[in-house]
This record gives sequence, C-alpha cells and structure tokens, in this order.
Amino acid sequence: MKKNWSIIKTAVKHTWNIIKIIAKHLWQLPQHLVAWCLVWFCGSERYLGEYKGRKVYYHPLMPNSSGEGVCLGNYIFHDSPVWNEGVIAHEYGHSRSSLFLGWLYLPTVGLCSVMNPYSGAHYYSLWCEWWANRLGGVKVVIRNNNPCDYYLEVIK
Ligand SMILES: [Zn+2]
Repeated sequence: MKKNWSIIKTAVKHTWNIIKIIAKHLWQLPQHLVAWCLVWFCGSERYLGEYKGRKVYYHPLMPNSSGEGVCLGNYIFHDSPVWNEGVIAHEYGHSRSSLFLGWLYLPTVGLCSVMNPYSGAHYYSLWCEWWANRLGGVKVVIRNNNPCDYYLEVIK
C-alpha cells in the first residue's frame, strides 16, 4: 500500500511539472512563437549554451559585436558568437519580466525596446531596461565619464 502511494505521488508530481511547462509556454506564447521561428532560422549550430534555464543562441541577423541581445521568453539571442555574461544576464532579466507579463510582454517591453534608441535618453535608463538589469543582477558600468562607453557587469 505504501509503495502504491509513492507511485501515485510521483505520477502527480510529474503531471504537475508537465502542466507547469505547458502553462508557461501558453503564458508566453507570442514571444515563444517568434523565438521558435528564429531558432529554426539560427539552426542548432548557433546554440551557445544555457543560462539559468534559458537557451542562448547567436543570431546572425543582428549587427555583430555591438554587445546586444534580444530576449523572447525562455530564449535569448545574442548578437555575438562570443559569450558575454553581462549581456546574457541582462537578457535573462528580460526573460523573468516575460514570465511576469505574459502576453503583455511584446506590446510593453518589446515595443519600448524598439522605440528606446529614439528616446534620446541613455538606453538603460528606460524602465524595462532598468527592470531587466535588476532582475538579471546586472549593473551598467560607464567608462571614462562617457555615457556612450559602457558595459554590463554581473553583480550577483
Ligand atoms: Zn534590454
């Protein structure tokens, strides 16, 4: 009897885990649909690795070596084939905000990120970039008192 209870407990746990995975994909479906298309385009040879449960890819469509990335749910696309922990941690922060916002992620964070370069303010002063840095455990380090010369440093 005790053994049967253990089997039932394990089955319920596995079923619950599957339900959670499906629910997270449905909650972030718009960004995951775009990500799956990009992954298909990138190909498995562009896969760089995993960062805290998120899959990281090098995306060839972005201008190389500008040190940026894009996050679509559980998928991070880095514009360089060289692993940049600060950028990837920042994108991980966006991934966490995607989990909070669900279907609202693309119309809010996505749209603001696209419009951000035209705002005239420092890129990381925008609310969604500041929030991603906080959730990803990253800070912006400005070099030579020049706001245009900066990098992202992991702080935790
Ligand atoms: Zn960002």
